[in-house]
Amino acid sequence: MKLTFSPYTLELKHTFTISTYSRDSTPGVQVRLRHEGITGYGEAAMPQYLGETVESVMSFLSKADMSQFNDPMMTEDILSYVDHLAPGNCAAKAAIDIALHDLIGKMMDIPCHRLFGLDKSKAPETSYTIGIASPQETTQKVKEASDKYHILKVKLGTDHDRQIIESVRRETDTPLIVDANQGWNDLDKAIDMCHWLKEMGVRLVEQPMKRDKLDQMARLREASPIPIFADESVQRASDIWRLDGVVDGINIKLMKCTGMHEAWNMINIARSLGMMTMLGCMTETSCAVSAAAQLSPAVDFADLDGNLLIANDPFDGMHVVGGRITLNDRPGIGVTEIKQMQA
Ligand code: MG
Repeated sequence: MKLTFSPYTLELKHTFTISTYSRDSTPGVQVRLRHEGITGYGEAAMPQYLGETVESVMSFLSKADMSQFNDPMMTEDILSYVDHLAPGNCAAKAAIDIALHDLIGKMMDIPCHRLFGLDKSKAPETSYTIGIASPQETTQKVKEASDKYHILKVKLGTDHDRQIIESVRRETDTPLIVDANQGWNDLDKAIDMCHWLKEMGVRLVEQPMKRDKLDQMARLREASPIPIFADESVQRASDIWRLDGVVDGINIKLMKCTGMHEAWNMINIARSLGMMTMLGCMTETSCAVSAAAQLSPAVDFADLDGNLLIANDPFDGMHVVGGRITLNDRPGIGVTEIKQMQA
């Protein structure tokens, strides 16, 4: 197999703000894995908080000698080799994992969701994210989104969280989930907030406290009338066991966990512990989002809207129709390239 890769800057349609930062573009690296004339596409997206950069991803990918593998079906050997090249580097590893799954699907002429035994008609609705913005902008975004999406994810973690929810509720009564992105630091206030949010039609709260405050999250979970999900507190499969009894569910993302292979393991581990699952994404193109969407029939919640935020998406893949993730029958991760990427 031959691996090639190049950086690709994703331009955002709107400035995106959460409790810890704000941005207009985001770096990515696009990957291709070729074998016997077939090309698998992959992608690394690097959110700030995971510490990967274009340089670190390119450096990792330069070290991966994929030419030693002549049979792409040997996924266990191939992905174990990639994972053991260096610690961390989860987005870089995910890029290879996604390209490998795309390649295998194309070789077998089968969509990845079928490789995993999943029924595409069971793909869930996806939430659409409302970032932190001024009340006017929030109102406008909610107006635009609430026709198309049947569940909205509202970013909180500010000192005016109630006003944000109130301004959303002035526009729509659509179900909400909220993501505090570690922004709550007072347990009693967090408990009050969860009770109030339930009254406001919120279905779950994601990552209320700092990622290592597991004792506080467990106490909040006991007192909260709505489920508590971990996002920043869980990265890979090995993190799940310590969250048993701490949260009700986990948000799994390909870029955090090294790709589809590990995400699938995580879905099954979480289920075995009685946890709910959510599939999320970073700001990434239809390549990585469509890869995650292939696994979506297996999860309780999907938050796969990263590609909708991008002005220069080079791929066509999964679509959201009537708020629901809609998978096509194309082989692999189900994407076609719609424009040549500039390096
Ligand atoms: Mg989150």
